[in-house]
Amino acid sequence: MTMAGHGTEHGHDTESASVLARWAAGPRFAALPGRPDGLAPPKLSFEFFPPKTDALEAQLWSCIRRLEPLAPRFVSVTYGAGGTTRERTHATVARIAQDSSLTPAAHLTCVGASRAEVDAVARAYWEAGVRHIVALRGDPPAGVTQYTPHPEGYAFAADLVAGLNAIAPFEISVAAYPETHPGALSPDADLDNLKRKIDAGATRAITQYFFEADSYLRFLDRSLAAGITVPIVPGILPVTNFSQVVKFSAMCGASVPAWLARMFEGLDDDPETRRMVAAVAAAEQVRLLQAAGVDEFHFYTLNRPDLTYAIAHLLGVRPTRAAVTATAAA
Ligand SMILES: Cc1cc2nc3c(=O)[nH]c(=O)nc-3n(C[C@H](O)[C@H](O)[C@H](O)COP(=O)(O)OP(=O)(O)OC[C@H]3O[C@@H](n4cnc5c(N)ncnc54)[C@H](O)[C@@H]3O)c2cc1C
Repeated sequence: MTMAGHGTEHGHDTESASVLARWAAGPRFAALPGRPDGLAPPKLSFEFFPPKTDALEAQLWSCIRRLEPLAPRFVSVTYGAGGTTRERTHATVARIAQDSSLTPAAHLTCVGASRAEVDAVARAYWEAGVRHIVALRGDPPAGVTQYTPHPEGYAFAADLVAGLNAIAPFEISVAAYPETHPGALSPDADLDNLKRKIDAGATRAITQYFFEADSYLRFLDRSLAAGITVPIVPGILPVTNFSQVVKFSAMCGASVPAWLARMFEGLDDDPETRRMVAAVAAAEQVRLLQAAGVDEFHFYTLNRPDLTYAIAHLLGVRPTRAAVTATAAA
């Protein structure tokens, strides 16, 4: 290649002459935030949704079998908006308890049911051997924007936590919002609400997904200052369908940073590259949190195992022999 038309009399232009100087003047990092040697692998939990069809059921179970050897401390199964998946949630939780080596947690919401009905669902879980409930207020069913408590129901998640505690000594997890729940009066009011849920008996909070580690870490500081001491486990959403996440985030109050949008720019019709980019984006997020000292993670798997498995691997989690044996025997 000639330098004709671009070169100086010495054969290179001024722009290229300054490149090395610019690189040499750039900031220096000893390493990307990573896992210090000797650190125990983090504790993981995985979230699934109950399948609607036989094909989706098969997909869920192949996801469960793939993730099972990672021996998460629990896996949770969501409850549809307005209580629409009550039977399917129960059936999925029961099958996980029976047919896998995993410990299931059942999500349960206050929406569209009386206290007696919700209590009956909780009792059925206890009788089926399910000891962990993720207690939520829930969202109104599709098409309804305003949440209205059932006239005889639990109004808010804190009431449900107290109700569950009165039924049996469940382990109870609740939701937390680093960027504030969209229906909250203020960030402080939302934090007071989280404190109420803990005071009512919850022993863990799981966050809504977020993309800026900083907003989560600042939320931890505010929570600690408010007297909350239980773990607030980061909820990690490995993004593959970016446009869907943008839509969903607008509803649930999670912000989508411009840098994330730039990462997925132009990839709408390129699922393969999107998946690779998604793995990098999620890996950077969890490694940053891990470097900040966080060692528990909850993954929103969307019933797809690959990204979660890869990110768990990067975090230092490896298949355990016991879980592998259980999987092989199943
Ligand atoms: C980890 C996780 C799992 C989830 N799983 C499901 C699921 O399986 N099914 C489902 O339908 N949804 C699920 N959701 C979504 C959740 O149901 C919604 O975000 C819902 O809008 C709020 O639920 P909550 O339990 O946080 O409610 P709450 O803690 O009751 O809070 C709801 C809102 O009301 C406010 N508030 C609370 N108490 C009062 C009061 N006394 N007076 C005035 N305002 C009050 C709070 O500040 C907040 O804005 C999940 C969310 C998370 C983070």
